[in-house]
Amino acid sequence: MKVVLITGGSRGIGAASAKSLAAEGYAVAINYKSNHQAAEQVKKEILSAGGKAELFQADVSDERQVVDMFKAIQMRLGLVTHLVNNAGVLQTQMRVEDMSAERINWMLTQNVTPYFICAREAIKHIRQSKQVNRCAIVNVSSAASYLGGANEYVDYAAAKGAIDSFTTGLSLELAPEGIRVNCVRPGCIYTDIHADGGEPGRVDRVAELLPMKRGGTAQEVANAVVWLLSDGASYATGTFIDLAGGK
Ligand code: NAP
Repeated sequence: MKVVLITGGSRGIGAASAKSLAAEGYAVAINYKSNHQAAEQVKKEILSAGGKAELFQADVSDERQVVDMFKAIQMRLGLVTHLVNNAGVLQTQMRVEDMSAERINWMLTQNVTPYFICAREAIKHIRQSKQVNRCAIVNVSSAASYLGGANEYVDYAAAKGAIDSFTTGLSLELAPEGIRVNCVRPGCIYTDIHADGGEPGRVDRVAELLPMKRGGTAQEVANAVVWLLSDGASYATGTFIDLAGGK
């Protein structure tokens, strides 16, 4: 049985990935932080389509909660064989010269540390599963990692830059065992995250500036996540798929 954990599976890209992966036959562990209603809705849609899903509330920036979540997943669904490191946050747009150390540290502990500790726990499960060469991890980074986020959120962009390095490094550590680690880098996608940045309509504002002249959907990112986790991507590791409507 393939068991996938999606951090931040209650909304946006995580929710679309959860539904798509359930349709591919994965048992889906939907993690969320506080929006129980949204998580419940994702689970309901999966179950009514004949899929398998369970909810796991945990703040992935809290190491203890992550460890406990993996134990709970093992008990309720089985060992985690696939991971989508997706939960991420933005803060109000501002220039670097106005950023406090507190804000920068928070951005890193929310967007970087959780990817490391969730991967660490997933690797333990994957090794126990005895099917390592069919297991995989996808990290959700951002086009901001190479664009830089100037005047809006350089701290977030730098955190995503760390995720790109993390993807490369972890993929090299695990490649000899056949555990694949890849990354998607979405551009401007219609989700709630832009409201966290203080500009809910941001995607529409920048759409005209993008090569394809439109924002993307969570489903368009989920499609790449599904492929990277699948056996169809069996020779892809340390790879980046940019879903940004052109660079
Ligand atoms: P979103 O719609 O705002 O959803 C964020 C999700 O993350 C929610 O499920 C939320 O849970 C969860 N979450 C946040 N902090 C968490 C924590 N500490 N522990 C557990 N869950 C947590 O965001 P999104 O746009 O889908 O973003 C998903 C990923 O894509 C992020 O890594 C983001 O940086 C990246 N990304 C997004 C875009 C874009 O334009 N949307 C572009 C590039 C990259 P609750 O529902 O419980 O709050």
